[in-house]
Amino acid sequence: MPDFPLWPQCNIACVFCSNPVDGFRHTTERYGYEDLKKKLDDYKRGLRTFVKFDEVRDYFNLTGGEPTIHPEFLKVLALIRTEFPRNLIRLLSNGRMFAYEDFARRTCGIAQLPFEIAVPMFGYDARTHESISRTPKSFEQTVLGLKHLKKYRKPGQLVEIRIIMTKIQARYLDGLLDFLLAEVPWVDRVVFLFEEIEGFAEQYRDRLKFTQSECAAHIDRNYEKILKFKEARMYHFALCTVPTRLWPFVWNTLAGFKVTYLEGCRTKCIYREQCVGVHRSYQKHMAAPDIVPITFPRPVELSGDPYHPVVSADGPVKV
Ligand code: SF4
Repeated sequence: MPDFPLWPQCNIACVFCSNPVDGFRHTTERYGYEDLKKKLDDYKRGLRTFVKFDEVRDYFNLTGGEPTIHPEFLKVLALIRTEFPRNLIRLLSNGRMFAYEDFARRTCGIAQLPFEIAVPMFGYDARTHESISRTPKSFEQTVLGLKHLKKYRKPGQLVEIRIIMTKIQARYLDGLLDFLLAEVPWVDRVVFLFEEIEGFAEQYRDRLKFTQSECAAHIDRNYEKILKFKEARMYHFALCTVPTRLWPFVWNTLAGFKVTYLEGCRTKCIYREQCVGVHRSYQKHMAAPDIVPITFPRPVELSGDPYHPVVSADGPVKV
């Protein structure tokens, strides 16, 4: 799944943004339609093109900045769909642009299948949401955008909510989950991502610092609510930091160059093969204090799938 950045600028200013600080936001001249077309042509010819997940050939994550504010976003989307008619296109968007009803309709129409849109939500009202997005009206616009996506998506097009788990976000988590269950129970998936302290986020690292186990405890506290969603996932979590009953929600999605394994992971942990490992920013900024090798089997059923390693957490003990 190559991450395909379409546009470096963004129309919100999240406190946890992991985009590079230097040499990115002001490089719009490198993201014109012809530049993106050339990248797609190179990728199609098998040339190394993308920084992340270039080797994967079956789907794209369209990223940014904010991809939907590319001046020719719909034309770029049409090009990708024409050139790669069978690939999954996953659009990572803050959802504001879908407040324009016609834009939502045209996006769904052009994207066809397979297509997914992942939208981050931060809070349960304007105050809580915009304390993280730092953009007035963004709550109202994102919620309206989700309504339009529900209206115009085609059968099989999926809408996912992403919750970027930082210390600040954890304060609003319970209320946010209540809000999502009440207002958008139709979404296909809710994903909890452990923060990556990179790029813009590095300047706020003292406010964002949060261990994975603290974070997992906040999620675990909401276990009953999480079961009510159609699907829930957790990204970027080392297994040893997560209560066993949450293991079936863990998916491994980090690019190999972003992670490392500590000495204990390599020599003692019996779940090394199933685990995503330790994000380098977690080791750098938080010293990874809760990474502890697992030496006894947990009561889980393993899948053999490196991306989704645990099927259930109440089965017989297997490793
Ligand atoms: S000790 Fe290392 S390999 Fe084992 S679960 Fe923790 S991070 Fe993963």
